[in-house]
Amino acid sequence: MIQTINPATGKVEKTFESDSPSVIGQKLEQATKAFVLWKKTPLKKRIALVQKLTEHVQANKERYAKLATREMGRPFRESISEIEKSIAVSRFYIENAENFLQEEHIPTEASKSYVQYDPLGVILGIMPWNYPFTQVFRPMIPAIIAGNTFILKHASNVPQCALAIENMFQETGFPKGVMTCVFVEGKNVTPVIADDRIAAVTVTGSEKTGKSIAKTAGGNLKKTVLELGGSDAFIVLEDADIGATVKHAAKARTTNAGQSCNSPKRFILHKSIAKEFTELFIREVNKLTVGDPNNPQTDVGPVARKEVLEKLHKQVQESLKQGARLLHGGKKINRDGFFYEVTIVDNVKRGMPLFDEEVFGPVISITTVQNDDEAIAIANDTHLGLSASVWTKHPQRVQHFIHDLHVGLVYMNQVVRSDPRLPYGGVKKSGYGRELGKFGIQEFCNIKTVVIK
Ligand code: NAP
Repeated sequence: MIQTINPATGKVEKTFESDSPSVIGQKLEQATKAFVLWKKTPLKKRIALVQKLTEHVQANKERYAKLATREMGRPFRESISEIEKSIAVSRFYIENAENFLQEEHIPTEASKSYVQYDPLGVILGIMPWNYPFTQVFRPMIPAIIAGNTFILKHASNVPQCALAIENMFQETGFPKGVMTCVFVEGKNVTPVIADDRIAAVTVTGSEKTGKSIAKTAGGNLKKTVLELGGSDAFIVLEDADIGATVKHAAKARTTNAGQSCNSPKRFILHKSIAKEFTELFIREVNKLTVGDPNNPQTDVGPVARKEVLEKLHKQVQESLKQGARLLHGGKKINRDGFFYEVTIVDNVKRGMPLFDEEVFGPVISITTVQNDDEAIAIANDTHLGLSASVWTKHPQRVQHFIHDLHVGLVYMNQVVRSDPRLPYGGVKKSGYGRELGKFGIQEFCNIKTVVIK
């Protein structure tokens, strides 16, 4: 069902019809026709329109933030930050796209040889609900600036955010078909992926979804960019600034109610500081207010969907049965909506769901280690490889971690967060390809080699 279900109340607020195959066909046709003209539109003009769109988003920040909070339950002030982040992604490409897309001349025996960046065609974006604006902006803005057209298939629980994104293109004067949203449930999207009018697919979502999409795209020899799940390690060495690190840890794990791909999901603590760190962690978590996302005092809202709540509780219960130790929380909150207590569990080990699976919610899993080598081994002991952070007062120690952690991003003494200037993406089952930075726009280009003799 394509529905807005308010996670703070559990009530269905709006239901939408799925697009029929013929409506989807018309939208694909329109995007294909729009591509022919859009790719010929001078880059400066494409950028000027994206500038207009960005100013519109800036002027309507609160309106869009309210929609995100209503559909996926994030505290309103976090939703404002999300819209600001979407604006930052747009501004980055407005400022840098000409540089990233300019011809690169490479001397050979020919009179002229160079690389030029052509658009690919119609890009299908299959997107998740957890950052319903920013996740879309990350691939959509560079793809469109590069001269592609974009079809958005958003998660079924954020249809109003999807429509708002489509409408902002109409309101700011983009030609029809440059950005279109289709309403189709994930399980029915295969024929769209396979359709010859789709040139490439960019996906942000779970590992299971990534595999299924990559299979269809691969069967049709289409490029994919996959931004999938994470089970990121937050490694605290014995020489870290414990007081400051705990504050970062608590914020990083509870922002967006723990539903971020790069949220630290496994806390790996050196044994000599584990007790102090854990005690401070419990104290920090006790200061957090869980509740109505529209209340400015709220730190942690509900999780976005009933299934997310049920899965989270099962992961905690199963891990406790297998020997993990509950230190804080551990229950659904007895009120309407999809609320879960901020939970802390230690003695978490391989074989337990809290270690082996991606945990999407406000649950802090702690594992204690004896030394740096064990910390790296435990951090790498997962099928996922998105990012990791290492906390220490001695930067020279971190080289070992930078070299040996098998992830797409390593941060030291800083919580992992995406930055439009830096490439973003994972290894192993966290996917492949990169968003953001120079790589994020070139992913949606035909890197065309030209030789003139
Ligand atoms: P999800 O269930 O995989 O859904 C993501 C999108 O894929 C939705 O639009 C969904 O549509 C669609 N979908 C589901 N099954 C599909 C299928 N078989 N074929 C084609 N499309 C399908 O993920 P989610 O629960 O929305 O989002 C959370 C996941 O995203 C987490 O794993 C998180 O780590 C990951 N994520 C990764 C990044 C990153 O940058 N690496 C960023 C954010 C989130 P329906 O809603 O209609 O099912």
